[in-house]
Amino acid sequence: MDKNTRICIIGGGPAGLSAGMYLEKKGYNNYTILERQDRVGGKCWSPYYNGKRYEMGAIMGVPSYYAVHDVEEFCGITHDGPKLNRNYKDSQGNVIEPFARTLGNIIKNPWMLKMKGQLKKFGDLLETKYKGYDVNGHRGVAEGRYDGYAVTPGREKVQGENPNLKDLALPFKEFCEKNGVPLVQKIWIGPFTSFGYGYFDEIPAAYVLKYLDYQTCMNFVKVNLWTWEQGTQYIWEQLNAHLKNPARLNSTIEKVERKDGKVYVTVNGIVEEYDKIIVTAPLYIPNKRADGQKGMVEYFDARQDEKELFSKIDYERYDVQAFLTTPENHPEISYYVFDNMVPEKLGHLMVYYRRWKETKDQVITTYALRKHKNSKEIPYDECKKMVLDDLKIMHNPAEKVINEWSVYYFPHVFSEDYANGWYDKVEAMQGKYDTFYAGEVMSFGDMDETAEYSRELVDRFF
Ligand SMILES: Cc1cc2nc3c(=O)[nH]c(=O)nc-3n(C[C@H](O)[C@H](O)[C@H](O)COP(=O)(O)OP(=O)(O)OC[C@H]3O[C@@H](n4cnc5c(N)ncnc54)[C@H](O)[C@@H]3O)c2cc1C
Repeated sequence: MDKNTRICIIGGGPAGLSAGMYLEKKGYNNYTILERQDRVGGKCWSPYYNGKRYEMGAIMGVPSYYAVHDVEEFCGITHDGPKLNRNYKDSQGNVIEPFARTLGNIIKNPWMLKMKGQLKKFGDLLETKYKGYDVNGHRGVAEGRYDGYAVTPGREKVQGENPNLKDLALPFKEFCEKNGVPLVQKIWIGPFTSFGYGYFDEIPAAYVLKYLDYQTCMNFVKVNLWTWEQGTQYIWEQLNAHLKNPARLNSTIEKVERKDGKVYVTVNGIVEEYDKIIVTAPLYIPNKRADGQKGMVEYFDARQDEKELFSKIDYERYDVQAFLTTPENHPEISYYVFDNMVPEKLGHLMVYYRRWKETKDQVITTYALRKHKNSKEIPYDECKKMVLDDLKIMHNPAEKVINEWSVYYFPHVFSEDYANGWYDKVEAMQGKYDTFYAGEVMSFGDMDETAEYSRELVDRFF
């Protein structure tokens, strides 16, 4: 492609900004990033409280976040945040130890021994039977192929046939049962369901395992995690500051028309002409949202195939509340509540996060899901009340809620559409209308998978 191609990128979150970085690295400088909000970072949102930043969105990374590492190198920053730690409570607020941590406890606990055995078996299966399961993106999976880059520092290109990969379309619960390793769900659930990515009986294994590949999951288990002192938003603010063309904030896109090999974008009332467009903003939102976000099919001259495919996308209703406590009610550490990570406890508090070790004058954040594929969505205010009531049960009642949001979170498709080749159909449309689709739904809803997908997109098409 001509290096002077005029490229419009919609969205100044991790996917859009890293698309800009990778384009620049490849010699494309004629790109424009349009961001609807007055800040960059998207779901990496780190507001200030008393001079310190807390996290309303993304919190952590792992050492295999290679694309995030590219960004850090590009900007000369590093992951310099507080070291994470956590404990566990049951739904009655008692501190518990679900995982026997010492050898003596493991020997006394047959369940733990069985789980360790299944964990080992699972690791082996992923390496052998499911070879290729962890490459970024979903190309070919439904047809039993893998095609992408390995999750290694060198990110080697890997490609091959593996019919077993079709199993990744199954809900993760079924996938584990089919492979005789149901107990591993107890390990994967912590960094999956409580992080808002849905329940194992509804979400295809592909999403679970591409994000939590074995190595990444073990990093969570060992709390070998990255954080950023200035918050995850800082990563993207820094990237934006280092780009030749920083994002244009407060850009309201009213219309996008694609005709005669050109893309016409009406932004804040003015029509701009481009050659190509990369969409990292939501492709489809099935309901009206209070924050005014819309799916691209609503403001683009969407074609029939775009409308049909994107209407299959659903997303999680993931609610975050930020609150203050009195010093005596301040939690001494972050807590996971495993009992509440099942569909029957929809709307309840699953985890609460304490960021700084040394102070009680800080914001604590709570996380809850209020939608499951097979049940009625819990209204926002009802969920909010349930979470505040749960905090009382946990002996850490909130004194004052200072921030809250319900996020358009983890867009995905369900098993049937996954198995029917949804991803291959969308991948076949890349570039068809001078339009490229990136961001969370094309890979997975975390900082690294989205940035990595942008890297690959630039590599493949530009
Ligand atoms: C509570 C929470 C916790 C999380 N924890 C982690 C974590 O610990 N680690 C991790 O890696 N990830 C985490 N994530 C997920 C991570 O933040 C997202 O996956 C990542 O930000 C996705 O990047 P993106 O660019 O695809 O989308 P987004 O971050 O959503 O960015 C999209 C951008 O597009 C803009 N936009 C939308 N519509 C338009 C439009 N019409 N015109 C112009 N701009 C538009 C939005 O304003 C936004 O800035 C978390 C997210 C949340 C909410």
